[in-house]
Amino acid sequence: MITLSRREFHLFQAAGRDFLYLVPSAAIFALDQPSAAVLNVLGNASRSDDDIVAALAGRFDEAAARAAIRELVEVRAIGYQQRPDPVLPKMLPMAAFPLNTMVLNVTNQCNLACTYCYEYGEDKIVDTEHGKQSKFMSEATARESVEFLLKESGPSRIAHLTFFGGETLLNFPVLQATIAYARQRAAEVGKTIDFSLTTNATLLKPEIIEFLAENQVGVTISIDGPQELQNRFRVFHNGAGSYEVVAPKIKELLKRHRSRPIGARVTLTSDTLDITRIYRHLTEEMGFWEVGFAPVTTSPQQQYAIGEHGFDKMLGQFRALAHEFLENVAANKHHGFSNVKDTLEEIHKGVSKAYPCGAGLGLLGVSTDGDVALCHRFAGSDAHKFGTVRDGIDRETQRAFLEDHHVADKTDCQKCWARPLCSGGCYHEAHVRYGTTTRPNLHYCEWIRGWTDTCLQIYGELSERNPDFLARFDREEVKAEAVL
Ligand code: SF4
Ligand code: SF4
Repeated sequence: MITLSRREFHLFQAAGRDFLYLVPSAAIFALDQPSAAVLNVLGNASRSDDDIVAALAGRFDEAAARAAIRELVEVRAIGYQQRPDPVLPKMLPMAAFPLNTMVLNVTNQCNLACTYCYEYGEDKIVDTEHGKQSKFMSEATARESVEFLLKESGPSRIAHLTFFGGETLLNFPVLQATIAYARQRAAEVGKTIDFSLTTNATLLKPEIIEFLAENQVGVTISIDGPQELQNRFRVFHNGAGSYEVVAPKIKELLKRHRSRPIGARVTLTSDTLDITRIYRHLTEEMGFWEVGFAPVTTSPQQQYAIGEHGFDKMLGQFRALAHEFLENVAANKHHGFSNVKDTLEEIHKGVSKAYPCGAGLGLLGVSTDGDVALCHRFAGSDAHKFGTVRDGIDRETQRAFLEDHHVADKTDCQKCWARPLCSGGCYHEAHVRYGTTTRPNLHYCEWIRGWTDTCLQIYGELSERNPDFLARFDREEVKAEAVL
């Protein structure tokens, strides 16, 4: 006789059946009736196998009940009480982790003054007006950055270069020159560089659009939705709204730039939580292929910060849109809600993160003067510097960062079933909320768990209704553009 108890999993229902999300392995396991019954009988208690088999007598014969117990032990949904699962060691990545994505802040200046912007508001990390960093990146620094990327990407054949700001297009001449230089240098060393940028769209004009289309540059537009929502926060320095300026330019871009799908990136605030309306406007009226939403990063004191009630509202709307995504995809039709697609891809690939994102690992930001930082949001911050494009990555600082930020050291996350996908959340959010990047973002755990549960359900449904859609993630056919 052996005594059994439950291990770490999250139970969810989809397509009329029960599934387990197995936390240590980030795998999904579909329960048949006997296994569901075993877990039901066991609950949170400890019971012997004989006890469980006896409790199931009349519903399942002994052989079926014992087979179900064996299978659940094998996948580690349950385990022998006398033999607890070993605690996984804190594994740090290999020392010279290759750089996959470099985000180049070609300027820290902006022609908009969005009220909630982390770079210009009260929550800013770097003084971009009076600080020591140049306002614009020079062509020489951009070239050095390209060399840095080619070198630090190690054996990878493909590297990603994303242009960022401030408003990226304020420094279009350097961007243009950098793409030509990077393309030539990459070819010389037998690599390919994939280019993308984020812009507020105010400076788009026919020559720029032509260039982006011809060079297959991935474009993400920061936009908050229809006129009244866009103009609530996304304003020029004189307070005038930007919708009237950007709308025709975006339509022109979408008409001409067909070499890559164009995505919109929406910042949500407590005042603009109208996700369905925003989504409809951006896809149906403007013609974006994809829309990704992110809650504003700000201290809780700001009136536009999303509070507990706001996260509940946001989750309800995300769920409704995710179910619309499901119905479309199940019928082999496109749907552009990129948040759900990105999470489905991570679930499908069994992602289990020791760190919340690639920052400091495969992704680094570069400031206008060539300082290398944790990510684009920390570019120019001395406290989050990881070397320079001239001297390379400061591997000691990087090692210390990875040592201090591992999910194994986040006590609350260690008890949370959503940690394979969340791992504590964005460092920048934590820095703004708690003054340190090491803290997990405990203010939005309910939202994260609710959203992860929804995505697991959608995944379970699709695994029955359109498994081919999920299989396409293996072939990278439905991979999202990077949304920063
Ligand atoms: S931050 Fe919250 S939701 Fe995320 S892993 Fe930690 S405890 Fe879970
Ligand atoms: S999730 Fe946060 S820390 Fe990570 S890359 Fe994005 S902004 Fe930077």
